[in-house]
Amino acid sequence: MRATFMYGPGDVRVEDAPEPSIAEPTDAIIRIVRACICGSDLWPYRGVDAPAWPMAMGHEYVGVVEEVGAGVANVKPGEFVIGSFFASDNTCEICRSGYQSSCVHRQGVGGAQAEYLRVPLADGTLVATPGIPDDDLVPHLLAASDVLGTGWFGALAAQAGPGKMVAVVGDGAVGLLGILSAKQLGAERIIAMSRHEQRQQLAREYGATDIVEERGDEGVEQIKELTDGLGAHSVIEAVGTQESMLQAIDSTRPGGHVGYVGVAHGVELPGQELFFSHTHLHGGPAPVRNYLPKLIDLIWNRRIEPGKVFDLELQLDEAAAGYAAMDERRAIKVLLRP
Ligand SMILES: [Zn+2]
Repeated sequence: MRATFMYGPGDVRVEDAPEPSIAEPTDAIIRIVRACICGSDLWPYRGVDAPAWPMAMGHEYVGVVEEVGAGVANVKPGEFVIGSFFASDNTCEICRSGYQSSCVHRQGVGGAQAEYLRVPLADGTLVATPGIPDDDLVPHLLAASDVLGTGWFGALAAQAGPGKMVAVVGDGAVGLLGILSAKQLGAERIIAMSRHEQRQQLAREYGATDIVEERGDEGVEQIKELTDGLGAHSVIEAVGTQESMLQAIDSTRPGGHVGYVGVAHGVELPGQELFFSHTHLHGGPAPVRNYLPKLIDLIWNRRIEPGKVFDLELQLDEAAAGYAAMDERRAIKVLLRP
């Protein structure tokens, strides 16, 4: 089969690789229908992370079940399924508390930018859609695999909801879907921080009521001006740098909540500032599995269109061009078609 590997910073290749097979009775093999490139794939691409090379790429996927192990009961061959980047049993105490991405049996799922994928703990990881989706629904369902689930968690962690003024730091796919999520959760006002016209447009379409183009201290000032000088109740941080995290914390009113879902890189928290600001911080890798049934339902009933963040669609063999486009911010998010 064809599969995507990163051999080092900036070096992405699509190559022939062995098809995965059932290794554990709890595994499923799925035929990938669509995969995509994640903002977090850019960390190794830019040399910030240095994993063991070559790295099998891709952790966002929708597909059709080809084969299941003897211990799998919840999904069967032929079903259209969505899973997330961490496999979970969905039965342990941590899963049952809603944190499937910290499951005590958690396993990473990797290598989804390929024709086939092995998914461990299939019963607790994969969710089948009510039927085979129409083609136009597929990108929206794919978004639920990570970016939408991550934006949703960011909004929940920031306690976005009725009566709340929400600010979103980061205008990548996760930030944009954080806006959509805050809107779905009933937020009163949503301020998007973005200086890119195309992303501002989508932000407004997803529910942003205000746009702030400034960054850093100036951006924080703008947020305060829009929120009676107090700061936002809820701030979604969707970047993961020191600058973005401080911007999020400083934009939050005393007692407010920051939901941070950008994978943190080199972030150091100001202890004393946090102490005196009464800021709640909550975040981490989103327990997407927790939200999949709800998100699939919203998409299936055509209530939301999270797949609009895909603004470039390529064949799997063109994956390298997709990475370059996202790295250079020519594309928000790239969809790959095996
Ligand atoms: Zn678990």
